[in-house]
Formats: sequence, structure tokens, C-alpha cells
Amino acid sequence: MKIRILGCSGGIGDGRHTTTLLLDHDILLDAGTGAMSLSRDELARIDHVFLTHSHLDHILSLPLLLDSVAGERGHPLTVHAIPEVLQILRDHLFNWHIWPDFTRIPTPEAPFLHFQPIRVGETVRLGTRELTPIPANHVVPAVGYLMRDTRASLLFSGDTASHDALWECANAQPDLENLIVECSFADALADIARASKHYCPQTLAPDMARLKPGPAVWITHLKPGGEAEIMAQLSAACRDRPRALQEGMAFEV
Ligand SMILES: [Zn+2]
Ligand SMILES: [Zn+2]
Repeated sequence: MKIRILGCSGGIGDGRHTTTLLLDHDILLDAGTGAMSLSRDELARIDHVFLTHSHLDHILSLPLLLDSVAGERGHPLTVHAIPEVLQILRDHLFNWHIWPDFTRIPTPEAPFLHFQPIRVGETVRLGTRELTPIPANHVVPAVGYLMRDTRASLLFSGDTASHDALWECANAQPDLENLIVECSFADALADIARASKHYCPQTLAPDMARLKPGPAVWITHLKPGGEAEIMAQLSAACRDRPRALQEGMAFEV
């Protein structure tokens, strides 16, 4: 499985796009503004969207994607998320006020959109490709994902503050080649990081010290303008210097 980074910023501006990963040609992991750089043909080939959580920077392309290509697709697009996230989408997004309820149009029997509940720890298999939701620690119900295919695995934290399960999961995967973990704020904004349940260097560095040697570590969800400061603080605090994830990068698992 090829994992392409379409967006990995905590915001927008000067070419930044928010969290979106394209897995092969048919799966999106989060649907931030990164999806907006896909062509209509590419958008029409998306059959599955796996969501980490309901925050706008991770879902905002989804309603427009459906409206742009759903009519040309022969089958519904499936959104996989934990039940709490699906309920938030029903209540606050696809509620006819913000956007039409695509689970009922054009008809409830053959809709454009299908919601598929997933559970933490239960692997979803699509051919040889596996996506397993892992716990996250965020201000709304959220998960990260372990992605695996025949040759390796990659772990993606999603939006999260410190929690044990991420590092226990990383250390338990013998084939883990890459860990993508968020670090949204510099240490000067540690209070905001704590209140919004994101990592900052002073909370991420001690957790990273628990990671067994092996996987490369990539930092995502850096808030615009803070990138250099966050990465400098992480480089100073971490034994194995993590690198900033960049849009356009690709990983093979
Ligand atoms: Zn969030
Ligand atoms: Zn976010």
C-alpha cells in the first residue's frame, strides 16, 4: 500500500494543507484541505474515508467531495469512524443545515454516503491492506491508525496529547518502519497544547524516549508559523531527531 501525504499542517496558508493521507488510489485517511489538490477523476475513485475525529481540519473536504463526484459514482462512499464521530457528523454536518444528509440522497435505499462504525483495536481489511484504529487522547472522541500491508506497518497518531497506548502499540509492531506523530505547538504555547489536548515538545520528548529503536519518526500537525521553533525544540530534546512530515512525501507498507 502506498501512503501519500496530501496535507499534514495544523492550518492553511502559503501552500499548507490540513491532514489528508491518500492510501493507494481509493482510501483517504482524514479529509482535510489536502484532498482539494486531487483532480475530479482522483476524487471519484475514493471509495473509503477513514476518520480520526470530527474536527474541521480533518473532515472539511468530505462534504464537498461528495457533492463534486457522488453523482458519477455507481456505489456509495463509505466513511469509517468510531460511533461517536459518526454521530457528530450526523448531528452537526450532514444535518441539512450545514450540508444535505447524503446518507438519504438521492434515496435512502441507494445513498451517496454510507457510515460504517469501527472500533478501537478491531482491524478493517481491504484486500491485503489493514487499518486498525488505536486510542488517542484528544478533546473529542478520536483515534489514530495502524496501517499495514504485506511488507511493513506505519503508525499514525492522529490528533492527541500524551497517552500510553500510542507508544505501547508502536513498540509492539515488529514491522513498524514509520511513526507519524503530531506536535502542534511550541513549548511557549504549552498551556494551549494542554487545554486543546495536543502534544508540544516538552510532552512529546519524554514519550518518544520510550520508543524502541527502529522506526523513523515524522512530526505532523505543526501549527502554521511555529514549524521551525517546534522542530528545533524537538531536535534539542530528542535522542533520535524526528523530522517534519512534508506534503508530497510517500511511504510504502
Ligand atoms: Zn483535533
Ligand atoms: Zn487537527
